Amino acid sequence: MKVTLGKAGLNKSFQDDFQRTVECPFCTNGTAHVAFVTHEGLDRGERAAIVARKEPAVCFSRPAGARIWPHDLMACAVYICTKCGEATAIWNQG
Ligand SMILES: [Zn+2]
Repeated sequence: MKVTLGKAGLNKSFQDDFQRTVECPFCTNGTAHVAFVTHEGLDRGERAAIVARKEPAVCFSRPAGARIWPHDLMACAVYICTKCGEATAIWNQG
């Protein structure tokens, strides 16, 4: 798992780039700004090595009985609201 701080991590996604800001789900009219993006296996070689060696990855830590969980390597953007300070996250998977 790697961590990229701030805007530099917006393209560390398996799908469309992460947004720079999101609406805060915890308060009214709050805007949350990207703080960091965690990501694993974004390039083909890195991804194959992680899967082959079963290195620690989010997909391997699925809780027993979990209905929804990343079934492959993932990226996660963490945002912090500038109004209330709460953190929220958006993730996607490869
Ligand atoms: Zn907020």
